[in-house]
Parts: sequence; structure tokens; C-alpha cells
Amino acid sequence: MKTYKLLTPGPLTTTETVKKEMMVDHCTWDDDYKKITQEIRNELLRLAHADKSNYTVVLMQGSGTFGVESVLSSVVGEEDKLLIAANGAYGNRMEEIAKLNKIPYVIYKEDYDKIPSAEKIEKILKDDSKITHVSMIHSETTSGILNDIEAVAKVVKEAGKVFIVDAMSSFAGVDIDVEDLRIDFLVSSANKCIQGVPGFSFIICKRDELEKSKEKARTLSLNLYEQWKTMEIDGKWRFTSPTHVVLAFYKALKELQEEGGIPERAKRYRENNKLLIEKMRELGIETYIDSKHQGPIITTFFYPKDSNFNFQDMYDFIKERGYAIYPGKVTEADTFRIGNIGEIYREDILKVVSIFKEFLESNRSK
Ligand SMILES: *Cc1c(COP(=O)(O)O)cnc(C)c1O
Repeated sequence: MKTYKLLTPGPLTTTETVKKEMMVDHCTWDDDYKKITQEIRNELLRLAHADKSNYTVVLMQGSGTFGVESVLSSVVGEEDKLLIAANGAYGNRMEEIAKLNKIPYVIYKEDYDKIPSAEKIEKILKDDSKITHVSMIHSETTSGILNDIEAVAKVVKEAGKVFIVDAMSSFAGVDIDVEDLRIDFLVSSANKCIQGVPGFSFIICKRDELEKSKEKARTLSLNLYEQWKTMEIDGKWRFTSPTHVVLAFYKALKELQEEGGIPERAKRYRENNKLLIEKMRELGIETYIDSKHQGPIITTFFYPKDSNFNFQDMYDFIKERGYAIYPGKVTEADTFRIGNIGEIYREDILKVVSIFKEFLESNRSK
């Protein structure tokens, strides 16, 4: 099998040592395994700068979307009303979740290349007193824009509302002080910046808000409160857990620590991202998001001004040479995306840009 590195924002390229952890078949009920679950939960709290007396962590089977759906369907009750601030496909996905779960909601849509405005959110909250919860995306992976959760948190908490953040592609790649920002529920998953493999999501929860969600859940398997209550007993998951994935994640957390924690990882990602953009610019390839709002996780680039350009040809050419990139996801422009998270270093960025250059040259001479 021909291997390649992933320049996609999760699943992403993991270390050999993380992958090796999955060579063990572990049972789900014994003490070592339950202890691993509890250590993972404690370590996630520490990474979130959240104190155990106010916050707790729930691990939830499934991909990141399962985590988002678990929160929205479990904590926004029938009498509540959710405001979704969306500027990309993942924000729009929250609306789909709200619709299917019959959650009362309103949506504030912003253009994909603009961040949701804290002032507008403040005004919406002022005009509609029925709103009880506000949800938004931190790193909108659709475009790579980094939304200003700090400014939004301020207006949401000042208005006394519950704040829900999808920090799927940013948590551990961007330092987030969950307690200081007073975020009530923050969702991320195993296969993003912590550099584990896909299989579960995790939710950093404000304890008192989680307590209030008792009996609000709309489903059995995604019931956040019940998942927490069971896990809280001794670390045993409510239903079968992805054991291999959990072991790999435990290792990935240790490797994050060895790298120097979130500050060092965030620095590596930022430098990867800066170098990528700088080198692509030298080839005449521009970014879709302006430099003020561009996030450090993934970058959307416009197609080169070359009439011969074809994404599939480029994708195949690059994959043949060891890297997988991503098609664009914004609707109004022809774009592609390159992620720079995972086991990716300076030399990978330089390599992929040189492959890209080679592709453009071979394309021009056609
Ligand atoms: C990856 C991601 C998700 C979850 O996607 P899944 O395919 O369910 O893992 C949700 N939101 C954002 C911003 C993401 O980047």
C-alpha cells in the first residue's frame, strides 16, 4: 500500500507510536482501562485551563459531529431557544442538528470570509429575550477562518446566556482558557489537534449547566447527562467504547506533553501555516481569508490563474508524491485547502510547496 501524509484537518497524520498503541485488544471494564479514561478526562480539563470544581469532561463515542449533536440535543430544552452564529458549513450543520432535533432556534449567518460580529450577537440577544443559548464555531474549517470567541463570550455571558463552542479543529492547536472565557460547553474530537485517531469526541462542560440538562435529552445514545453520570462513577463508559482509539489518544496526550504542551504545538502549527502561505504567495497563489482573520489550522487558496488548472489532476500529482490535500468547501469561489496540523513539520511544508510548483510548471508546458 502506497502511503502518504495527510494535509487534511482531521483525520490527520499521527505518529507511528500513536498508531502502535492500537495493536492491543483491551477490555472495557477492568481497572487499568477505567483509569485511563479518568486520566484522559483530567488531562483534558488541565489543557482547557478549567478547574475540576467548576468543570468536568464527558467523552462521547462517534466523530466530532456526534459530540456537537450530543450537546445541542441534550442541553437546549423544549422551552429554551438557541442562537446559532454561522459563517461556514460547520455552523450550518448546527442548524441541521437543531431542525432534526426540533430545537427552537434562530440563526445569524455571516459571509464565509467574515467573522460573526459580537456587536450583532449582542443586539440579537437584546431584541429576543427568549434566547437562552448561543453556539458558534471557533476555527471554521470550511474556510480556515478563526472566529473571535473571546469577544462573543463576553457579550453572551454578560447577557447571562449559555455559551456552546465547537472548537473541533482548534482545541490544543490554539490555547483556549475555557474557564476564563466562561464557556459552558466546548466540543472537540480525538482526531484533530491532539493528534489521535478518529472514534470519539469530548466535551468540556460547566458542571452546573450540565446538571441543569438532566432529563432534557432527546436521544438515548447521545444523552450527555447520562453519559457523564455513568462515566463519573469510575471511568466506565455507558456503552462500548472505542478501546483502540482511547489507548491511542492516551498516548497522543503524552506526546503533546512531550512536545511542550499546547504553547509549543500551537507555535509549530502557526509556523507551518505562515510558511505555507508565504511560499504559496511566491507562486502567485492567494488565500481566501485575509491575514487578519486567517487561522493557523487550515488555509483556503484560490485556484491559480491558469486556464489549464484542474483540481483532480493536482490532487493526484501531489498524492503520487506523498501528500493528500483537500478540495475547497466555500461555495462562491474556486478554491482548494491545505491543512497544516498533525505530524507535519517545516520540511513537509517546503516539500509540498515544491511539488505544487512542479505541478504548475508541468501544467503550463502542456
Ligand atoms: C472536523 C470538524 C467537525 C466534526 O466533523 P466530523 O466529521 O463529525 O468529525 C465539526 N466542526 C468542525 C469545525 C470541524 O473542523
